[in-house]
Amino acid sequence: MDKTEVKKVFCGICGPCCPIDAYVKEGKIISVEGSYGGLCAKGAASKQYVYNKERILYPMKRIGEKGSRKFERITWEEAFDLIVERLLEIREKHGAKSTIFYAGYPKWYRPALLRLSNAYGSPNFCTESSTCFQAADIAWKSIYGNNICFPDMNNAKTVLFWTSNLYHSNTPMSKMYQGLKKKGVKIIVVDPRKTATTCEADIHLRIMPGTDGALALGMAHVIISENLYDKEFVENYVYGFEEYWNYVKDFTPDRVSEITGEDPEKIIQAARMYATNGPAGIMFSACTVVHHINGVQNYRAVQILPALTGNYDVKGGNPVMSGPAAPCNEFGRVKRYDGEEAIGEKDFPVWFDLPCNEAQCTRLADYILKEEPYPIKAFVGFGFNRRMWPQPDYLQEAMKKLDFFVNVDLFMSDSCDMADLVLPACTSFEREEVKALKGGKFAISQKAIEPLGEAKNDIEIIIQMLLRMGLHDEALEKGYENYMNYILEPSGLTVEELRQHPEGLMSKNLRYPEEKLYKKQGFQTPSGKVEFCSQVLEKYRDSYGYKGIPEYIDFREYSGVDQEKYPLILNTGTRKPHRFHARVYRVPWLANLEKEPLIELHPDDAEIYQLSEGEEAIVKSPVGEMKGIVVLSKNNYPGIVHIYHGNVKGEANDLISKDYLDPISGFPGYKSYFCKIEKI
Ligand code: SF4
Repeated sequence: MDKTEVKKVFCGICGPCCPIDAYVKEGKIISVEGSYGGLCAKGAASKQYVYNKERILYPMKRIGEKGSRKFERITWEEAFDLIVERLLEIREKHGAKSTIFYAGYPKWYRPALLRLSNAYGSPNFCTESSTCFQAADIAWKSIYGNNICFPDMNNAKTVLFWTSNLYHSNTPMSKMYQGLKKKGVKIIVVDPRKTATTCEADIHLRIMPGTDGALALGMAHVIISENLYDKEFVENYVYGFEEYWNYVKDFTPDRVSEITGEDPEKIIQAARMYATNGPAGIMFSACTVVHHINGVQNYRAVQILPALTGNYDVKGGNPVMSGPAAPCNEFGRVKRYDGEEAIGEKDFPVWFDLPCNEAQCTRLADYILKEEPYPIKAFVGFGFNRRMWPQPDYLQEAMKKLDFFVNVDLFMSDSCDMADLVLPACTSFEREEVKALKGGKFAISQKAIEPLGEAKNDIEIIIQMLLRMGLHDEALEKGYENYMNYILEPSGLTVEELRQHPEGLMSKNLRYPEEKLYKKQGFQTPSGKVEFCSQVLEKYRDSYGYKGIPEYIDFREYSGVDQEKYPLILNTGTRKPHRFHARVYRVPWLANLEKEPLIELHPDDAEIYQLSEGEEAIVKSPVGEMKGIVVLSKNNYPGIVHIYHGNVKGEANDLISKDYLDPISGFPGYKSYFCKIEKI
């Protein structure tokens, strides 16, 4: 009889990629547990995720009308033949740019898909980051010129968590958070809600959603007017300080209190604590601040604070490197082919100027339906989830118009409805993968079981597409094993060595942090300094109305929505520990935790609208409506409605207008639109 084996796998359901011990018997996963402690609810339900009845097991070709959900099983040979025929024909007739290569979830294969897009000749490599994280990085790049610097929490005396509820959005970090508390580190949390994270904070700044920019400008006002800023740094390394200070002067604590709803004394206290109890780091969230129509400018106001207070690139602040790192190929190192105009380039030029190695596709549906800036004919999707977009039904209609649409995915979701071809991908339990870990370590995510049905590793599928179309890419064309070794090459390690060491190995070449490298190298910005007034944004002042300073625009004044008709603020997608976009609703353990779409409402609002807990209600916005069950919560301010998205039983993103976008990044204002609620 087979004995039970323990395989070391990295969870692929969401971002942190937690290490999992998978217990495997007779070729099947019998249970899972966290390698170094607990897993979140989603990770703990991995078995039901892998063996889910909605898994796509074979290549499937559409045989009915688009949207009829009629598919038939075909062989991989037939599937690849069809892909090659259609993609080469479309390239010949309409040019390579008419094909979009799209990476959704998971993310691990992104550089390989970018290589395929480049080899095909399309500038249109896009990812789900068109609505997640990239705007935060763009904001940072416009100030410092490099990628966002996260805090060095091991050495910080104060940590400012700006809209991060770690317990729900990054479970492994919640342990570290508890460690900070034990060490006596001062903690400030900015969050419109009361959460597990805010409960343990020394100061909780509870602001109205979308007012982050005003709060940050108010903190800067205190810091500068009380002479708590780093004058030496500002004098030598900052561009545009005077213009910035002239603007900041108007953001007195009293005015900021009126905008944000927070007590002016608490704003002053937080500003003093952050500026004087250093080193102090700011933990930035991926999308909460940027899911507003003034998202980039709001985040710029926040992200200037490390430079203002001398916390940029110092131990315990926001350093460029907080510990040793290992060199490797791929992530962030493959450049997008930009020889032709990409989608989104005319709408959001700063996205491309800064630059970002993907096109901006928030307006994908418009680009397809209106043939802007040119006809889009084919879409090669990996983990495409239409529910990540505002008004997802509108996008569904657009996908119908495509001449060829292939989606590679784990589950037969309704995002596959308009596809001509649906291909089965593997979970992380069914393939090997090289993982770069913190501190310069590498490990291999072991293949715990054989792929279910005829599922394949995403990168194997990408390589087959490349080779069968006769395209060339040096890193990919030698096969998957060689590609993994190519990723590892600069580290001096090989896949075979990692296979012998499931616990992981340190890179043979390490890079060590060097504090304040800017003293030698300057900053990669047009001025060579930290730009409190961004020259990249200023360039578009006349043509697009962008401002170089972190201008605060209040969504309540600029939304264009009739707020008498839609008096409640709508916030979609606030993180829940048992949800991850649309993906895990189908997992029974998780589905049972929350069976119906929930509408979170403050008891004061429930009284106004004569609604009670557990009652069904309808939420309406200028563009859509959805039904759900009322849940009362005092965690929110009155006047704000929270609904999670991605639910086939009631889609919150149906309520968000596709045109309600941050003009700089193109990010939808998911966290501050408007709605009303009615009894049924
Ligand atoms: S937080 Fe949960 S779902 Fe995300 S990687 Fe970790 S275990 Fe998996």
